[in-house]
Amino acid sequence: MKLLIRFTGYEQFCAGKDVASCTAVTEKLADHKVFSVLDYANEHAKSTADYEHNTAVVLETIAAAKRTSAYPFAVVKPSAIGSFELFHKKAAGHKLSPSKQLIWTAMQQRFEQLAKAAKQAAIVLMIDAEESWIQDGVDMLVLPLLRKYNSDKVVVALTIQLYLKDRNVLYKSLLKDADEKGYVLGVKLVRGAYMEKERSRAAALKISSPVCDAKDQTDSQYKGALQHALKNLNRHFCIVATHNQSNINWVVDYCSQANISLGNANLWFSQLYGMRDYISFSLAEQNANVFKYVPFGPLEQAVPYLIRRALENSAMKSQTLQECLMLKKELKKRKLNG
Ligand SMILES: Cc1cc2nc3c(=O)[nH]c(=O)nc-3n(C[C@H](O)[C@H](O)[C@H](O)COP(=O)(O)OP(=O)(O)OC[C@H]3O[C@@H](n4cnc5c(N)ncnc54)[C@H](O)[C@@H]3O)c2cc1C
Repeated sequence: MKLLIRFTGYEQFCAGKDVASCTAVTEKLADHKVFSVLDYANEHAKSTADYEHNTAVVLETIAAAKRTSAYPFAVVKPSAIGSFELFHKKAAGHKLSPSKQLIWTAMQQRFEQLAKAAKQAAIVLMIDAEESWIQDGVDMLVLPLLRKYNSDKVVVALTIQLYLKDRNVLYKSLLKDADEKGYVLGVKLVRGAYMEKERSRAAALKISSPVCDAKDQTDSQYKGALQHALKNLNRHFCIVATHNQSNINWVVDYCSQANISLGNANLWFSQLYGMRDYISFSLAEQNANVFKYVPFGPLEQAVPYLIRRALENSAMKSQTLQECLMLKKELKKRKLNG
């Protein structure tokens, strides 16, 4: 078992098997003014029992957030608390049978339950984004929550994947909707983690891939989204969720030129636990709001998450040396500062 744990990178990317066992990691991060969100790494949900179990675990993370200021967010993956198949059916515009409609209503209630608990705990509930072909179905449950709960401050934040070709058009229309209806738009901006899956599905279905054809297109879309976000910070809320150093430098420079405090309550930075830690620490030192996604869960359940992280890290091999050097520098600095 120990070998398996080492082989999968469990200890590098996961903080523990349950909410309580994450404290050792999150307290260390909090010592350096880096906040955490406890992210239940369970990607196997298939049945109502699974969805209910996962909802209960997210509620547990919200209860933990009530006890400590170290957790200003909670997070949920839509497919962990609702049927992937039904999200897909709704996204494709299919009408549900009466029995499926009951399941859909139960999914809606779970989202509502989490949003309500987040409001009571005065934290932000982030909704992760997954495969593009379920996203419209997810939005049918999530957008009404933003309109209902974000009337004066952000309670629910959705995720925009900028590797999808049409997402800045969507982002602009969401900003417009929020302004017209008078709610705070909360977004987490990511590039997107399902590129291979999106491409192979598109190839299999002989449709054009929804993902940008090249990395520099994704990069320019991400930059465009950052621009929308920063221009709207006086009213709307944004999480810059990336490990990309040049994006982060760009945001920091923009803020300094536009006289926006890095501690602006509507601006947060986020990285995954075990990845680019020096970026998170350095942002916290500059008084920026920053938190780590801290995954937890039993090893067997965390495997798909760990595989995605391993793939991503191997894609970033060229950056590994840079990371080592930065970490070395960070450690040296910490030693010098006592
Ligand atoms: C806090 C946090 C929360 C996250 N939440 C989510 C989430 O809810 N949903 C989700 O899908 N992902 C999520 N991610 C993962 C994210 O989408 C990226 O996979 C990951 O962060 C790597 O992108 P980057 O911006 O950090 O780095 P970079 O190294 O600059 O970008 C890598 C990314 O660029 C894109 N890319 C790479 N090559 C190409 C290519 N040839 N053509 C087009 N695009 C390309 C891919 O999206 C790839 O992941 C999250 C990441 C963080 C840090």
